[in-house]
Amino acid sequence: MCEELIQVAVRLRPFNQRENDRHAKSIVDVDGKTIFIMDPLSSQERKQFSFDYTYWSHDDFIQAPSAIFQADDISSSYNSQRKLFDDFGRDLLKSAFSGFNCSVFAYGQTGSGKSYSMIGYGVNRGLIPITCNELFEEIENKKDSHTHFQVTLSMMEVYNEQVRDLLSRKMPKACLTVRQHPTSGYFYPQDLCTMPVDNYKDVERLLSEGIQNRTIASTNMNRTSSRAHTIVTIHLDQIIQTNYDEIKRMSTMNFIDLAGSETLTNPGISGDRLNERTNINRSLSTFENVVSALVDRSSGVKQKCFVPYRESTLTKLIQNSLGGNSKTIMLATLSPADVNYHETLNTLSFADRVKRIKNFISINEI
Ligand code: ADP
Ligand code: MG
Repeated sequence: MCEELIQVAVRLRPFNQRENDRHAKSIVDVDGKTIFIMDPLSSQERKQFSFDYTYWSHDDFIQAPSAIFQADDISSSYNSQRKLFDDFGRDLLKSAFSGFNCSVFAYGQTGSGKSYSMIGYGVNRGLIPITCNELFEEIENKKDSHTHFQVTLSMMEVYNEQVRDLLSRKMPKACLTVRQHPTSGYFYPQDLCTMPVDNYKDVERLLSEGIQNRTIASTNMNRTSSRAHTIVTIHLDQIIQTNYDEIKRMSTMNFIDLAGSETLTNPGISGDRLNERTNINRSLSTFENVVSALVDRSSGVKQKCFVPYRESTLTKLIQNSLGGNSKTIMLATLSPADVNYHETLNTLSFADRVKRIKNFISINEI
């Protein structure tokens, strides 16, 4: 077992139509690994943060390095989506083949680019499809008579503290019970469909099915923003035949597209929308409390400290990814616009705390 810090990537999105129409001012700047944020009310007030990876909004169509990508190939749209994979997705995938669990969280205000980065829209495929495509290419490369690969995919959402299976055909949208594993102690959703996938096309089909089943509702910021946390899990099992025995190596890759991190300030919302917001706040505020406890634990401020994983469904389900046995990346997404100053500053401060968390990783092999 070894300790490893959670890595943090920060990505700024371009202005959207509304911001362009209103001639919004940009208050975020990126220089190397440093991000600067200006207070729109006081230009003297400038804060800075450093992260493992940063992405400027206008990197979108980067020249592909040489002509390694074919025209109709998934990788032909070489843009900043691809860059996320090249920077850290590839390493995570390599780790998964070595038997480590891996996780990626997307955290940020609604409309800041979480789903764009994780899932993508249209040809701008996000990290999950790109990683899965590469996963199957790698399996093709590694295939020999000694190794057998098994891949499954599951997709769920945590909505109003309940877990829904996004791939269940028998009971679409049925709520699943969260149970605790008797030996490992980890929580899992009972009867979640884990679908075998044999190639990238299978993944694409299941992802679009799951996306259709997500709970979406209108908000001011983003019409189709998901009001739930979406978790896509890939299990990679490898059975390796050696001269003497058989090794089973198992890894789990978790991709977590969190609901918007903005605080509830809109007095106009009521009923279902308010109930949703309260529950989203509860799971995200527990998530933030878990982060605070883990920062204390990792910095040695407190040797033994209580981490409140059990206080929300989301944090129960992602316990391993945050402070547990997983190589983890958090992707914090930002809006460049002055009107979002407070949310953007909150996201940066949160990301700054997450980068202090240590996970304890080990290879899963029997
Ligand atoms: P979130 O999931 O954080 O609520 P989305 O990922 O749905 O937000 O992004 C909101 C909108 O902004 C989408 O229309 C998306 O296409 C666009 N967008 C987000 N990030 C980027 C980016 N890095 N480059 C280009 N467009 C982006
Ligand atoms: Mg989204």
